[in-house]
Amino acid sequence: MSLMGQMMQMPLMISSLLTHAARHNGDIEIVSKRVEGDMHRTTWAEVESRSRKLAQALARLGLQTGDRVGTLAWNGYRHLEIYYGVSGSGLVCHTINPRLFPQQVAWIVNDAQDKVIFVDLNIFPLVEKLAPMLPTVKHVVLMCGRESMPRETALTNLHCYEDLLAAEDGQYSWPTFDENAAASICYTSGTTGNPKGAVYSHRSTVLHAMAAALPDAMCLKATDVVLPVVPMFHVNAWGIPYAAALVGCKLVMPGHHLDGASLYNLFEEEKVTMSAGVPTIWLGLLNHVKANNLKFSTFKTTIIGGSACPPAMIRTFENDYNVEVIHAWGMTELSPIGTLGRLKSKHADLPTEAKQKILEKQGKSVFGIDMRIVDGDGHVLPWDGKAAGDLEVRGHWVVNGYFNVDKSPLHDGWFPTGDVATIDADGYMQITDRSKDVIKSGGEWISSIDLENVLMAHPAVHEAAAIACFHPKWDERPLMVVVKKPGAEVSKEELIAFYDGKIPKWQTPDDVVFVDEIPHTATGKISKLQLRERFKDHKLPTA
Ligand code: ADP
Repeated sequence: MSLMGQMMQMPLMISSLLTHAARHNGDIEIVSKRVEGDMHRTTWAEVESRSRKLAQALARLGLQTGDRVGTLAWNGYRHLEIYYGVSGSGLVCHTINPRLFPQQVAWIVNDAQDKVIFVDLNIFPLVEKLAPMLPTVKHVVLMCGRESMPRETALTNLHCYEDLLAAEDGQYSWPTFDENAAASICYTSGTTGNPKGAVYSHRSTVLHAMAAALPDAMCLKATDVVLPVVPMFHVNAWGIPYAAALVGCKLVMPGHHLDGASLYNLFEEEKVTMSAGVPTIWLGLLNHVKANNLKFSTFKTTIIGGSACPPAMIRTFENDYNVEVIHAWGMTELSPIGTLGRLKSKHADLPTEAKQKILEKQGKSVFGIDMRIVDGDGHVLPWDGKAAGDLEVRGHWVVNGYFNVDKSPLHDGWFPTGDVATIDADGYMQITDRSKDVIKSGGEWISSIDLENVLMAHPAVHEAAAIACFHPKWDERPLMVVVKKPGAEVSKEELIAFYDGKIPKWQTPDDVVFVDEIPHTATGKISKLQLRERFKDHKLPTA
């Protein structure tokens, strides 16, 4: 008979992250730029006690274990209290992206059957408009004090957040229950078809937070000051609200103020050391610091993911501003962290340029995530850095199904990511494309990311997107859609010539079109779907 370990069994509870933060780093600040316009300061200890009051208030509203609680809110301390008050008391926190189309928001709320919706002041008009279409929603809570409550509203079930908390005494103990119980739900952006709900458990969330904080992942410490630019409605701000509590660091919450100037001021005023967000956001910040000849005094590291980080951005941050870029890959179905770009000891003596080359890749998987690449027939491909195949993953914080969907998404026990990638002998994974964005030219594949990365290094280019355009001979050929930097001049011919020697000749884009703006999805990624639609009748000069 096997000998069993004799260790305590303690379920991994999200509330334990917060109680730990309150006990050991209780005086560490959570600073928020509020929708109201002012700055607000609180601490982990206060967030913990207010979360307990929130748990009491939710029980008073009649919510029961497993009920879903929706949020339509920016990054801020009240949203943090909701994360913990909801999940900690056995309810399920359902963050919703307010930038989605209103019909999509309604669809998601109805699919999740949210009983309550917490909403920030400047998103309230959306909820007022959608309310008649949301039959499961019994209460709407406006995240503000009484002074900001609207005088008139058609809603009969509207509550004031601060009033709800003020009515409670905080005499509440966080319950312990099955660590596999649902803690939160996040819907995929649904670039194709309806959005799908990924249901995270307490266990998966705590394990993900531990992995996210590790030195070769986000490397979070109690002495850090972290500003999550990535919204709390985008895969739980990549787990930062949990990982930050685990290590007890200071959090700086930017609210909806995500333009370059606002971010820069927050970075400086609050002495931010570390941040995280999608590439688009950093374009705005870098433009602002460049145009105003500014430097960062404390900002040291940024995690960039959600879409491929252009190599030129890594170099600008590191060479011009001394900010280390950690390129990360993940997705909603992975809570989201899968891989991060970090060097190994054998790379220590490489020249900077060679190191940056390695860091352009999406990186190595963290412990807890296994990955493999397979060909069209499901055969596993080698890790040689050349063979490109469908990326599949499995691990402690990977979904094994979707909310309200019977059919399993798994393939042979693995989750197919929809991304195409290579993995090299050292385990560095590189995304070549999303399978639906690959440009298929005469049976050969061209990586849209490779084409974009070249132009993003051109001094006149602000943003570039590569899409497949119909070609009578090759089926598809690459078309570049480009936004110029303010005041910059460059011709189509110059940009096409810029590809010389940087990619195989046959992959050179056939055409370039200039636009004022490239459309982005609700999570800040380039909307290839919209671009393909807009340029579906574009005639290539080579056609
Ligand atoms: P959605 O899939 O709903 O758009 P996610 O945020 O879950 O929203 O997106 C996950 C996808 O984003 C990945 O499958 C991948 O295609 C892309 N992605 C994320 N990080 C990176 C990265 N560092 N490089 C390239 N693509 C990335």
